Amino acid sequence: MTPDLDVAVVGAGIAGLTTAHELTRAGLSVRVFEARDRVGGRMASHRRDGYTMDEGAEQFPAHGYRATWELVRRMGIPDRKLPTIGGPLAMWRDGAAHIGVSSPRGLLTGAGLGPRARLDLARFTAAAARQRRRFDPDRPESTPLGDATIAALARRYHPDLLDYLFQPVVGSFFGWHPDRSAAAPFVSLMMAVGPPSTWRTYRDGMDTLARALAADLDVGTGTTVTDVAVAAGKAVLATDRGRVTARAAVLCVPAPVAASLHTDRREPVRRFVDAATFTPTLKVSCLLDRPLAPPAPRPVYTLLTPSVEEPVLAGIIVDHVKHRGRAPAGRGLLTLMTAPAAIPGLLDASDEEVAAALVAPAARYVPGLEDAVTATCTHRFRHGLPEATPAALALRADFAARQPGPVDYAGDWEYLRPSSEGAVRSAAGAAARVLARLRAGTPVARTRELV
Ligand SMILES: Cc1cc2nc3c(=O)[nH]c(=O)nc-3n(C[C@H](O)[C@H](O)[C@H](O)COP(=O)(O)OP(=O)(O)OC[C@H]3O[C@@H](n4cnc5c(N)ncnc54)[C@H](O)[C@@H]3O)c2cc1C
Repeated sequence: MTPDLDVAVVGAGIAGLTTAHELTRAGLSVRVFEARDRVGGRMASHRRDGYTMDEGAEQFPAHGYRATWELVRRMGIPDRKLPTIGGPLAMWRDGAAHIGVSSPRGLLTGAGLGPRARLDLARFTAAAARQRRRFDPDRPESTPLGDATIAALARRYHPDLLDYLFQPVVGSFFGWHPDRSAAAPFVSLMMAVGPPSTWRTYRDGMDTLARALAADLDVGTGTTVTDVAVAAGKAVLATDRGRVTARAAVLCVPAPVAASLHTDRREPVRRFVDAATFTPTLKVSCLLDRPLAPPAPRPVYTLLTPSVEEPVLAGIIVDHVKHRGRAPAGRGLLTLMTAPAAIPGLLDASDEEVAAALVAPAARYVPGLEDAVTATCTHRFRHGLPEATPAALALRADFAARQPGPVDYAGDWEYLRPSSEGAVRSAAGAAARVLARLRAGTPVARTRELV
């Protein structure tokens, strides 16, 4: 029996859309199945009353995201739609915001670190820079840090490095606990992306690239895939709208979702998919009647609130500093990020309960906040970011070396990299494997542009 499609892609996040883009470009018949009514997944944006809210991803760097930039250029997105954010990161300590986190200037100004901790940070940074080549975000298992957790790495240095740098950064941006996640993917990512002064955002919302890709693809939104099986070397998908057969399926969903859809018989694949756990994320957008922000020496993009000082919030993003178009003229937009330790207790609460739980403590950092909020929107991802545990790190290389099969995978979790660049690169690899299998003997040079 002839299959319905060459390739069925599950998930219209950036990994699924990139996979479909590559394979469609190569001339295959491809359809993307997406459960939600919109594309973008964890790079989606929500628009309301002239405000643009990023539900998941917030920014991307000018450097270190080679595959993303290749895709951005290919889709013809002009530079003016990719503004530099410019605003610094600040750390809350002893009742004030200290700017310069993760920037070279921060080593001089402190950015919330005492003199001895700064010295340790300089030592750590210099040692890592000397071995820069070994911090390849594509091979996090091969760094000099081995499988040490972030907490274990930090124990070699002044306690401030954990409390006022590593924990607040990984807690706010990745939802990670330092004693559970490996240091190698974190350090590799930070070295690749460079200082916050170079970070960009999509002017019109972080879903810009996803929407551009989807416009040229066959995407079926509102279709949930419930099972993926293999029969006679073909993929058979059960969806809530019926059965679909394809010569190959690519599961571009978080690893725990992939595991629930399909049990892979290849042991190294199954073991890694099972080990690739995720941390949840929970954010609240506050629509403001004025451009309020945490008081600081200059307008900050993000204020990080360490868990040693603040139990409920991980940080506050100032969206109208990210780009002024994120809020209507004269108004403001803030994103409150929930502390990893507080997420389990709030993940299943109502939107209103979550907003109330976050807005009250945020008023400590943004005086007048409660009066200025006109509405809130809650954004939650049960599978927010790859947790990158040492156990997953140990299994990653064998998964990455998998052979093409009727079912393949793509997503940020393949590289244990909590970033959209990981998703794009993983997708390019999946597309290359599918092409190699479906067109045995045909070179796959075009997909190599993103790999
Ligand atoms: C809060 C947060 C902040 C982040 N910040 C940044 C950042 O600043 N910079 C950065 O580079 N990265 C950031 N990231 C990471 C980035 O968003 C992800 O790495 C990337 O979007 C992952 O893309 P993906 O395609 O692998 O997965 P996803 O985006 O999760 O896509 C999976 C898709 O599959 C769909 N799906 C799931 N199950 C089914 C099913 N059964 N049937 C059909 N469809 C299904 C989902 O609805 C979703 O659309 C952040 C993530 C979060 C959550």
